Amino acid sequence: MTHDPTMTHDLLKVEGLRKYFPVKGSPRKVHAVEDVSLRLRHGETLGVVGESGCGKSTLGRVILRLLAPTEGRIWLDGVDVAGLGPRQLRAARRDMQLIFQDVYASLDKRQKVGQIIAEPLTVHGVGDRKARRERVMELLGMVGLEPSAADQYPHEFSGGQRQRIGIARAIALSPKLVVADEPVSALDVSIQSQILNLLVDLRKQLGLSYLFISHDMAVVEHICNRVAVMYLGQIVETAPVEDLFSGPRHPYTRALLAAIPRPDLRRRRGERPLLHGEPPNPETPPPGCRFHPRCPQAMAVCRSTAPPEYSAEGAGRFHGVKCHLYG
Ligand code: SF4
Repeated sequence: MTHDPTMTHDLLKVEGLRKYFPVKGSPRKVHAVEDVSLRLRHGETLGVVGESGCGKSTLGRVILRLLAPTEGRIWLDGVDVAGLGPRQLRAARRDMQLIFQDVYASLDKRQKVGQIIAEPLTVHGVGDRKARRERVMELLGMVGLEPSAADQYPHEFSGGQRQRIGIARAIALSPKLVVADEPVSALDVSIQSQILNLLVDLRKQLGLSYLFISHDMAVVEHICNRVAVMYLGQIVETAPVEDLFSGPRHPYTRALLAAIPRPDLRRRRGERPLLHGEPPNPETPPPGCRFHPRCPQAMAVCRSTAPPEYSAEGAGRFHGVKCHLYG
């Protein structure tokens, strides 16, 4: 197990991460995650946003080591988790948890809620039966559910309540990192804000750090401190949330923001072209800038040369963009 002493402010540091999947009966590979580097500070929420199929969920699962990386480094609190063996990885899992989009599918319907929330404690041998029961009661209170919920089954709860159960299970071991994968996208809008507010409260109360994966820019604006925009396996823009929403640079980010159904936002920024066409096949990503087949501002250089990351930094606010318009 190696340590990175440079991670004073960072809980998570990812460098050069790649994840390729083999294609059955073909020498090709799906390039799901392509050379991703990012940092997540202690107590921060970093949004990873992009269209369905851009690789953001795969990125979250590789960071949690639920999928093995093809290449690259993942440091969690100074420890290189990409290089851990099975036993060390099992121990490291205490510090990193996942909140699912489809929480109902992730719950064992035959188990009572108390057993479901206690499961990570049992797996990691935390406390005896009585201590685990007490911890379950504490967790139910933290997520806004009644103690009686412990003796009920998942089907007895609404979608929002089930997500609260999923959150209670995810924080049971007091993890450092929580990857929340589209945690509110299956919920009604009125319930979404309740769950987002709960996640914000828990972050403050427990000092959690979130990698918050979403396709919904409005949700990202609500909860994130910084945002990384992902397109076809690559991060194309990274900025503090206010900077990204007030001054998006990458043509893809601008198109995503233009698609938010909020007249105030669109008037303020002027009408921008919506995103046309489908993302290319990740088995055969386009050469040069991967966005060039859909980009209204594409130039000749974009078709042949991948843009490096250009950055603007002031008062500690890094705003990076991979686009030749800024070279
Ligand atoms: Fe568009 Fe070129 Fe920028 Fe890619 S590099 S986003 S194609 S302008």
